[in-house]
Amino acid sequence: MKKHLTYEEMIKICQTINRCYLPSNEAFEDAIDDLFEKYEEDDAKRFLLQAFKKLLALVDQEIQIIEQKVAIRPTCEKGCAYCCYFPIIITKMEAKLMMAYIDSLPAAEKEDIHIHLVKYFQKNKEKLQKLCAIDFTEAPDFKEQYIVERLPCPFLDLKTNTCKVYEVRPIPCRTYLNYCSPKACADSYIPKEPFSYEFFYEYYMEALNEIVQELLYENEDIGIDYPEDAFVFDYLPNFLKSIKNI
Ligand code: SF4
Ligand code: SF4
Repeated sequence: MKKHLTYEEMIKICQTINRCYLPSNEAFEDAIDDLFEKYEEDDAKRFLLQAFKKLLALVDQEIQIIEQKVAIRPTCEKGCAYCCYFPIIITKMEAKLMMAYIDSLPAAEKEDIHIHLVKYFQKNKEKLQKLCAIDFTEAPDFKEQYIVERLPCPFLDLKTNTCKVYEVRPIPCRTYLNYCSPKACADSYIPKEPFSYEFFYEYYMEALNEIVQELLYENEDIGIDYPEDAFVFDYLPNFLKSIKNI
């Protein structure tokens, strides 16, 4: 297997994926069944967090299945983080689940993330005010406007260039992969080479909604205002600031 594909080779692979791969929500539906088979009604919040992690991991697994079919492997490596300067937009429901994940960590790790976030919001106050106020529903060039300012993601550890919440990194982070030279990402703010598997978002979100609805049907307290939280989209830093009250 060749290490770096050229852009032209990547285009051909994309065409093969489009031709041969039939998107399906089957794996996500099976995952819901598996999860509820093991559901114990004593801790719905913990169950929801496990389900969230499982669905996110499933997106990675589905991507790997496609990669195996077309014999490609990402050139993305730990410590490469040019893509962690893109604006990350998620739902309030996902932001709350990411916070629940942080709350579930051992005390020292939780404290480390808290201190990191406090410093991050202090250091980047002005850029955050400016960039996280760009209306992404109205400004077609919001990604360009955001990325040229080099504002790192709140969860990027700048000493190691790694993600502090890797296990629950949102869908845009895990579905954006490069198979060409990583130099493509180093040389351009918005490189054309990386491939986006964002089509998995629909299946992941449908499954997450189904799980939340089921838990609410059972009158469980899951800390989610539904359906509002599933339909409010915002920049990740905005949610962090409001939910964590930093
Ligand atoms: S997408 Fe680009 S910047 Fe992000 S990890 Fe992969 S090679 Fe690095
Ligand atoms: S959540 Fe993690 S992977 Fe995603 S942009 Fe932030 S630091 Fe990078």
